[in-house]
Amino acid sequence: MNISLFLQMAAETDPDRIALVCSGRRWSYGSLWQAAQGAAAVITRSGCEFVALLDESSEATAIAFFGAALAGVPYVPLNYRLADEDLAALLNRIAPACAIGDVERIQKLNPDGKHNCFQRAEFVLEAEAINEPFEEREQEDGIAAQIFTSGTTSAPKAALLKHANLVSYILGTVEFASAAEEEASLVCVPPYHIAGIAALLSSIYSMRKILMLPAFDPDTWLTLASEERASNAFVVPTMLSRIIARMEEGAESDLSKLKAIAYGGGPMPMVVIEKAMQRFPGCGFTNAYGLTETSSTIALLGPDDHISAFASTDPAARARLGSVGRPLPTIELEIRDEEGNCLPAGERGEIYVRGEQVSGEYRERSALDSDGWFPTRDAGWLDEEGFLFLAGRADDVIVRGGENISPGEIEEVLLSHPSIADVAAVAVPSVEWGEAVGIAFAVKPGSPVPADDELRSLVKDRLRSSRVPERIAKMDVLPYNEMGKLLRREIRKLFQS
Ligand code: ATP
Repeated sequence: MNISLFLQMAAETDPDRIALVCSGRRWSYGSLWQAAQGAAAVITRSGCEFVALLDESSEATAIAFFGAALAGVPYVPLNYRLADEDLAALLNRIAPACAIGDVERIQKLNPDGKHNCFQRAEFVLEAEAINEPFEEREQEDGIAAQIFTSGTTSAPKAALLKHANLVSYILGTVEFASAAEEEASLVCVPPYHIAGIAALLSSIYSMRKILMLPAFDPDTWLTLASEERASNAFVVPTMLSRIIARMEEGAESDLSKLKAIAYGGGPMPMVVIEKAMQRFPGCGFTNAYGLTETSSTIALLGPDDHISAFASTDPAARARLGSVGRPLPTIELEIRDEEGNCLPAGERGEIYVRGEQVSGEYRERSALDSDGWFPTRDAGWLDEEGFLFLAGRADDVIVRGGENISPGEIEEVLLSHPSIADVAAVAVPSVEWGEAVGIAFAVKPGSPVPADDELRSLVKDRLRSSRVPERIAKMDVLPYNEMGKLLRREIRKLFQS
């Protein structure tokens, strides 16, 4: 099944219902479907092998995504925040593309003119003007999207998502037309991230109105949510803490219609979710854990789990507020040790998953094992009741003379220092050990900067000597990407010399 069928179904069910509100313009399901068909014709005419989007979220995101699906051409959203050099490399890997968005930048980075470029408005106008039904084109490999992973741990990988993966994800998680007409989802995640695509698809499938916010700013978010009476929202953890901070500073809002907030993409600090639950008592919270390679969510901590964990006085039950919940019923999940043995509850290892929504395929290779299991490279463990806890990325483990050191244990100790606001432990090259521990830290405003030896003693007093940092760097703030993920590779660069 082609993923565009979801938009077609919605348009045929209720063509006048509002599908999308973006920069003041309202698109009905009927008009969005018509533009998507026009976009498919534009894409087919261009004869390109990919449809690339280098732009903020807008109506063009939805039109290009569904147009590409109908035309049988992989959709490739690109991260406009990348440095020119990194972006040029990605643009090279997807030539020739029908490239939509920042034409000037695309042409500057690809002077050979391999791409067929369209400004956003020009693409939308051309697509709308066609106004003819488009017959879906068969596609041999069934690839709907090629999404470059965030590149948190290494260079971005080109994850391939088939129509079948995305369809299976949606059918496994969302009920069709479950939303009332007035329900509106406020979506503010970059279009190049799987969460953006998942939010678009689930809103279309459940026939909600999507309130698309091109770029995040807490005041704009609060205004849009109030004016459009948002009922649902998806945020990444940093957005939630910035929204709450603005509300505490007195920013005006009317979030009385907001009944559900889903969050994910990176770790949610306990203090933030606790505060959010107090500030929005009538709201159901969902923590969604997933990866690009799994078509987004594979495990959920749902609203009832949040409430029971929050209310519990039992430490094990309370700790579940920091878990990512249980795997979806359509997902098989195992925790394995380094030899590939399945581990029991309570033991920490690498998370493996299997299911129809799991692609696990990159353009260059497949990461699936012979039985179709995908190694997530996330470390984690399950508790006795099947709640999944994440414990860092397997690629972040520091291997010092053969001993595996989790950055989290060192960071936890250093965060107990009264001056330290944020800290990251990473592997640094060591002649003696192969790898050793390096730390980068930032101090709280107005706090004195602790001496390196003081930090070393703190670690030495609480942990084994192998954990004591060999290299230490102070930063004003630690580097995070727009999804709130700590960019450890940027920190590692500090210690390369
Ligand atoms: P790369 O693979 O290039 O390093 P990336 O893994 O950051 O990039 P994504 O697919 O965008 O690329 O992110 C998936 C990762 O995000 C997961 O493996 C997990 O570490 C983290 N993550 C996703 N959802 C959650 C969540 N709800 N809580 C904590 N971490 C999460």
